[in-house]
Amino acid sequence: MAIIMLGAPGAGKGTISTRLAEAYGIPQISTGDILRGEVQSGSELGKQAKSHMDSGGLVPDDLIMDCIRVRLSREDCRKGFILDGFPRTIPQADALGGLLGELGFTLDAVVNLEVPEEVLMRRLTSRRTCSNAACQAIYNIHTKPPKAEGVCDLCGSTLVQRADETEEVIKNRLAVYAKNTFPLIDYYKASPAYFAVPCLDADATVRDIRARLE
Ligand code: AMP
Repeated sequence: MAIIMLGAPGAGKGTISTRLAEAYGIPQISTGDILRGEVQSGSELGKQAKSHMDSGGLVPDDLIMDCIRVRLSREDCRKGFILDGFPRTIPQADALGGLLGELGFTLDAVVNLEVPEEVLMRRLTSRRTCSNAACQAIYNIHTKPPKAEGVCDLCGSTLVQRADETEEVIKNRLAVYAKNTFPLIDYYKASPAYFAVPCLDADATVRDIRARLE
């Protein structure tokens, strides 16, 4: 099963992908999480990616394709995967098409999560993320607060606001989304796998998507 989650930053791709990954027993592959892990470990890829990420811009396509090729070739992806935050440009989508063919997958779903812009902004500025690279659990100070302020429920590490979640950087990320990633909706619209769902209530969104996949 191969699923692509599309949607602006803050649309809920991470939350919905995690829930679907649990339901279908396949991994959620977030290029953002992979890149943050590389930055934390100080790898060469992390060094090259960091400045793009800090400003809210996109990491170059060739670096992303190298990383996704390695990740999708791993054993745990044999039954399928949910792509969260990838592809983000038309060249990435073209390259993914070739890679899926090589790996023997066809797309089961391209899900576009629809959320009004003012909701995106509110969600992104109130998000807190676990600082433990192996955990990276996501909270929202209004709608999903941790049990103890500033502390991860799952692993006890400190919660932080991501460096790319200041208001100025968020505006840039939304502008980058509009320019580079929004065109992917037209790219995939003709595919029978494409559909859009509102993402205001995670339970309802997961139910909608599962019903479409039955
Ligand atoms: P995310 O956690 O998905 O919002 O990603 C955080 C940051 O990682 C983005 O703002 C980009 O700088 C970078 N990134 C993640 N996925 C991609 C991708 N598919 N292509 C280019 N850059 C990416």
